[in-house]
Amino acid sequence: MDTTEPISLDAARMTREQRAALPLSAEVIQAMAEQHGVCTRPLAMRRIDTTTGRVEVVPVPCGSTREDQCRPCAEKARRLRMAQCRQGWHLDHEPVIERATPTEAQEVLMATRADLAAAYAECQTDGDQAACEQIAESVAELDTELRAAGVRGRLTPLDPPPQPVKRSTRRRQDAPDLPRRPVEHRTIGRVFAGRYRPSTFLTLTLDSYGRVDSDGAAVDPDRYDYRRAARDAIHFPALVDRFWQNTRRCVGWEVQYFGTVEPQKRGAPHFHAAIRGAIPRAELRAITAATYHQVWWPNHDHVVYTDGRLPVWDIRAKGFTDPDTGKPLPTWEQACEELAEPAHVVRFGQQVHVKGVLGGTEEAGRHIGYLTKYLTKSVGQAAGLDEHATDRHRDHAARLHAELRVTPCSPRCAVWLLYGIQPHGVRHSMTPGRCKGKAHQPEHLGIAGRRVLVSRKWSNKTLEDHRAERTKFVRQLLERAGIQPAQGVEDGPYLWERPAPTDPDIPPRPLLLLHAIAERQRWKAEYTAAQLATSNPPPNQNRSATTDQAA
Ligand SMILES: [Zn+2]
Ligand SMILES: [Zn+2]
Repeated sequence: MDTTEPISLDAARMTREQRAALPLSAEVIQAMAEQHGVCTRPLAMRRIDTTTGRVEVVPVPCGSTREDQCRPCAEKARRLRMAQCRQGWHLDHEPVIERATPTEAQEVLMATRADLAAAYAECQTDGDQAACEQIAESVAELDTELRAAGVRGRLTPLDPPPQPVKRSTRRRQDAPDLPRRPVEHRTIGRVFAGRYRPSTFLTLTLDSYGRVDSDGAAVDPDRYDYRRAARDAIHFPALVDRFWQNTRRCVGWEVQYFGTVEPQKRGAPHFHAAIRGAIPRAELRAITAATYHQVWWPNHDHVVYTDGRLPVWDIRAKGFTDPDTGKPLPTWEQACEELAEPAHVVRFGQQVHVKGVLGGTEEAGRHIGYLTKYLTKSVGQAAGLDEHATDRHRDHAARLHAELRVTPCSPRCAVWLLYGIQPHGVRHSMTPGRCKGKAHQPEHLGIAGRRVLVSRKWSNKTLEDHRAERTKFVRQLLERAGIQPAQGVEDGPYLWERPAPTDPDIPPRPLLLLHAIAERQRWKAEYTAAQLATSNPPPNQNRSATTDQAA
């Protein structure tokens, strides 16, 4: 919002039109919140301090990652991603993964679970359904306890899922033609000339589907291969997965990456990645050229059923049938048995950009900014499909979307019914051709998976860990400066309650926002004072946290 000179306004002497043009106080407060970096649509939560018994209604940020929903929250989320990217890129020591040894309590719970599972199997053999249900309930409770006790990983289900259909060797993904080295247990790159530890910035794109203009719209839409574009977009994440598998095998160490999937203007996904360590350009090019992903799905080149003549659910057959003959359609498993060739093969395009980047340089910072630049936008917005898009660009996106609507996104996709195949896990509630999957929605352009892909040993920290780290950093800074934060460490632990909107202690949103703005201002003042008071600069590894916090 523009800040203009204060003028005194006399609303009584204005026309109705003039009065309508005045900003509402709520809008003013909203704009203030945005300026102060405070969530503009917070949730009112009741916070109960279990030590002091104090009850307060406080604003809790919405946590959106989209700037058109909440700019401050989206920006905060992006900065956290930047910090995560920076921490892992030029790491000079192996991130340690230490698992705590199981406690006695955990072991007791696990042993009980094993006993119950054995009892369950026994009751099932005897056909005692009632006992089985009772045991299943106890196991569910036990599992909750195990999770609460800090046990991670998969717990064996009582009813093992059916064995997947064995693939014939013919359908195996052929190993690409690449040299193979044994994979060493290291994730950090080499040091050159005793002090340089270069890392890599990589961009992978998909093939061309036809010429496009400067806005990304097809020059000749009738010759642009929208079908291949749609399928490639849907299977892009699987292709990227394969790329990392091949890379690790070929270079011989556990390559780590922080990557983002973004749309190009033409609507095709591409992939940017910060890779820890240096990999020769020629090697990355060879891996990219050799990588492909085969989609072993039934053929879906020809739509069999369209609106007006769609498969119908048959109660007795418990499946979808042909509307004319009443014959059941082949199930997913049946349709997969006869496959002679993959329905689709995805490969990368010719363009591969590889760049060596040294840690701590301006260039590294620029690339981190580039990697995270579009994370606050939807896929469509990031592809330039906003209010400034040209008609040609919009038409191009519409044609791609028309193809995505009839492209199955997974084995469970209801679009399969248009091709006369019952999807995996078919249910009567399915509507042929209607799938809620993100891939079919116009704003996603077929890019349905996660936008940020981070390998496990990048920084060996979750986003939550990174967030906690930043809070700790600020606290330490305040402590060093001898500043008592408004909310002390000794406060809490808290109990949180979601109040009903009619509760009398719930303030209206503008008041909630003002509360949040005041808190933020106090926090900023404390932080600035602490920065001024501590003359010695913070240790190097926290430099990033400073810049990220202060903004
Ligand atoms: Zn928010
Ligand atoms: Zn789908």
